[in-house]
Amino acid sequence: YPRTHERCTVETVNDLSLLYTWHGTDPKADPILVMAHMDVVPIEPGTEGDWVVDPFAGDIVDGYLWGRGALDDKGPMIAIMEAVEHLMDIGFEPARSVMIAFGHDEELGGAHGAQNVAQLLAERGVRPWFIVDEGGAVADSLPPLTSSPVALVKTAEKGYIDLELTATAGGGHSSIPPHTTAIGLLAEAVHRLESHPAPAHIATLEPMFRALGPHLDPKLRPILTNLKVTGPIVTKLMSAKPSTNATVRTTTAVTMISGGVKPNVLPQKARAVVNFRIIPGESIASTIEHVRSVVGPGISIEPYGEMRAEPSTVSSTKSDAWQVVATSIEETFPDAVVAPWTLTGVTDSRYFADIAGDIYGFAPFTGDVDDTFGSIHGTGERIRVSDAEAAVSFVCRLIRNAS
Ligand SMILES: [Zn+2]
Repeated sequence: YPRTHERCTVETVNDLSLLYTWHGTDPKADPILVMAHMDVVPIEPGTEGDWVVDPFAGDIVDGYLWGRGALDDKGPMIAIMEAVEHLMDIGFEPARSVMIAFGHDEELGGAHGAQNVAQLLAERGVRPWFIVDEGGAVADSLPPLTSSPVALVKTAEKGYIDLELTATAGGGHSSIPPHTTAIGLLAEAVHRLESHPAPAHIATLEPMFRALGPHLDPKLRPILTNLKVTGPIVTKLMSAKPSTNATVRTTTAVTMISGGVKPNVLPQKARAVVNFRIIPGESIASTIEHVRSVVGPGISIEPYGEMRAEPSTVSSTKSDAWQVVATSIEETFPDAVVAPWTLTGVTDSRYFADIAGDIYGFAPFTGDVDDTFGSIHGTGERIRVSDAEAAVSFVCRLIRNAS
């Protein structure tokens, strides 16, 4: 991208992350910030053979470009670079500066990349008008809600905390055991946690249902657009499937367990690690409170590991920034209904919450929710070749419409 590298100020942050500034003609206007990340997750050892093509060859087969990172997040990153190079090529000059940040460790939490970029911008007093990062895309349909294509735009993302639960009991010889061992106590706590999910926050879905409006399945429309009355039914409906359950409540996933050293020794401690994805409206503190009330006394609860994030605030769907993003999507994907949604994962853009206005997530690619988007971090990650042009067009429109 020779023009981009000639015209932009290019900075390397913490050796590996990249920050581009394409200076606008209006120095008083706040910039926009478009983001992506350069790193990818590995191929799970033993699953290489499950791929249709070599996951690192970038082959095009059956109308798809296959490869690790095709969707998450090199496809969107290349779309940004192609768009900027193209706009420069045709002589476009933005009034508003365009900043581009590419993190190098998003999949590890972004603490070395995006967090440092955000700090740098904060020190310089840069306040992006809005941010577009990864987080949403165009779903061919959204069963059971609608059979129409939906451009899902992330307006919020869930938080993250791992908690370690420890049960303690007297040790000793296994020939004279107590009624319950540390492992038994812990197992009971884990069972209680799984059978007492965190409360549902069905109202978080209201903006999405409203946006889908006439496109909602006719059978579901009356109940989905009348949540004040139908809340309990919708909660039940959304809780039934893991993928929809994750959009209405803080999820509980017991991911690690350990205890005991020998078959004939009573364990003095048993530990489990539980991963929680915290819904906006809740917090790390309220999650710990929920766990404490469910597992009861006798089980100690401590945060585990370094990774933690409060849920994000919810970005506006009424602001001028939203209008720019939504219009750019509608111009590029005219068949799709634009709808806000909450991402169940965490992204690099959360580090910019204190300095930026609205933060949105949208990757300009289409796909089947389970099949195509289900391949992210898994086997067969791919993008449709037919989306390549639209992806670049979207970023061009975004920059022009924001300018
Ligand atoms: Zn990603």
